[in-house]
Amino acid sequence: MTTSASVPTEPEDAISARGVSPDGTVTDRLVDANQRYAAAFTDPGMDARPVLHVAVVACMDARLDLHAALGLELGDCHTVRNAGGVVTDDVIRSLTISQRALGTRSVVLIHHTGCGLESLTEEFRHELEMEVGQRPAWAVEAFRDVDQDVRQSMQRVRTSPFLLHRDDVRGFVFDVTTGLLREIDPA
Ligand SMILES: [Zn+2]
Repeated sequence: MTTSASVPTEPEDAISARGVSPDGTVTDRLVDANQRYAAAFTDPGMDARPVLHVAVVACMDARLDLHAALGLELGDCHTVRNAGGVVTDDVIRSLTISQRALGTRSVVLIHHTGCGLESLTEEFRHELEMEVGQRPAWAVEAFRDVDQDVRQSMQRVRTSPFLLHRDDVRGFVFDVTTGLLREIDPA
């Protein structure tokens, strides 16, 4: 397989039904939406410190609406997202700044059912290298067992020497078909 061949395409009429004009790009649509957002926006007068002192690390999956799913409001939390919700060095960087500069104390990790990383393997890196002639420096962080992956992520947070607060770290799997979180026992 090639690494770029499996991008699903969407029918043109499905896209235009959601407001993308045939002449505009999806980014144009987002910029248009921002004009309407800003027109109704009032300065909430907040500083940058999250109100609930919590950082949420989650997969970038489009079916996971973190604020709605967790009852979060503007200003409540830091959200750190990437493919898989993996605790990479860069996530540790964000959590370190979140805790040491911006006062968060709790960490919530959210992976989910049907994650794209479950269908990949580290072979993805090899295929990339064959295609572009360069091996990526990063691991794919593919996994087979989502519960185990959440446990590993919790462990990475709990063992990071850079973090101030490592006692309140909890991990969950979000079910994309029911909207429910299932907590993972760290043991
Ligand atoms: Zn995912």
